[in-house]
Amino acid sequence: MRHSKYWDDFEKRAQETIACINSGITIPVRRVAVFITEKCNMSCAYCNHDKGKREMSEECFDSVVNKYGKDAIIHITGGEPSLVKWLYPYLIEHGNEYRFHLNTNALLLPPSSSVKRLKVSLDSHISTYWNRLTGINAFDTVVNNIKKCSKETVLTITFTMTKENYLTIPDFIEFSNREFKDVYAIFFSVYKGNNPRFIFSEEDVDSFFETIKPAMNATLNEESKNLLNETIQEKFRIIEGKRFPENQSGLCYLSLSERVISPDGTESACSHLYRDGVKNKPGEICEKCLYGCNRRLVDFNEYVKRELI
Ligand code: SF4
Ligand code: SF4
Repeated sequence: MRHSKYWDDFEKRAQETIACINSGITIPVRRVAVFITEKCNMSCAYCNHDKGKREMSEECFDSVVNKYGKDAIIHITGGEPSLVKWLYPYLIEHGNEYRFHLNTNALLLPPSSSVKRLKVSLDSHISTYWNRLTGINAFDTVVNNIKKCSKETVLTITFTMTKENYLTIPDFIEFSNREFKDVYAIFFSVYKGNNPRFIFSEEDVDSFFETIKPAMNATLNEESKNLLNETIQEKFRIIEGKRFPENQSGLCYLSLSERVISPDGTESACSHLYRDGVKNKPGEICEKCLYGCNRRLVDFNEYVKRELI
C-alpha cells in the first residue's frame, strides 16, 4: 500500500488490523472524525450537508480528545468548524499535545500551525463563478488564507468536480500551480447528489476521460496525480448508481479502527456513511456502502481480507 500524507496512516493501520484480528486483540481506534457543528457561513449551491443548528460543547470535545487523542488522529469537520467560537483557541492551546486535522472553507484564517493536516475546499479559480457558487463574496480572502496556511502545515485543496466545473479543471490546476506553491496536493472528489445542474451525463464522463483527465495527469504534482488515479480510475466512478459492488457484503475492516462523533456526542463508525445519514457500528456495512465509499477505502478492506490467516 502506497505511503501518503493524505490517507491517515493507512499502511500502518492495515498491518495493525491484520495483526490484531489474527491474535484476537481489540483493534485500537486510530482516527476519530468529529462533526463539530452543523452550521456553515457559506451556502454552496451543490452542498448536500444538512444545515442544522447543533454544535458540540467544549466539554464534549474535551472528553473525546481525552478518550481517543493519545492514540488517534482527531479529524475535525462539520458544517464549518471555524464557527465554533471556542475551537480555534482550544486547538492553539493543545495543538502540540495531539494530532488535530481540520476541514475548513478557510473563510476565517485557520490556526494552521496547530494542526497537522488542513483540508480546504476550493472548486474554481474564477472568482465571479466561485462567489456565486458559494453565495459569499470572498474568493480573494480564501485564496490568501490558503497561501498563508500552506506555508505552516500540510494543506490539501479539495475540489468537488461537477458537470458545471469539470471543463475548467486544467485552468484551475494552472492557477493552483502558480498561486499555491506550498500546497501539498489537490484532491478531486465527485459530486454526490441529485441536482441535475451538477450531475455528470455519460457524454461528460467520456469527455472527462478523453480530454480532461490526460491534461490533469500532465500538470498535477506527483501526490495529486496519485490521488486522482487511485480514486477516479474508471468511468463508472463518476456515473450515478453503484460504484463499489465490492461492498455488497462482508465486513468493513477500515471502520473497526475509526469512530465518528456527532455534535451531541453520540458515536458511530464511518464518516462517509455519517454524511449520507447513516450511523453504523464499527465493521458494519450497508446499502449506502455501494455508493458512498471510495476506491482507497475499498482497497484497504480488500488488502486486509487477502492478508488474514
Ligand atoms: S462550505 Fe461545505 S458545508 Fe458549507 S455550504 Fe459549502 S459545501 Fe456546504
Ligand atoms: S462506506 Fe462502508 S465500506 Fe466504505 S468505509 Fe464506510 S463503512 Fe466501510
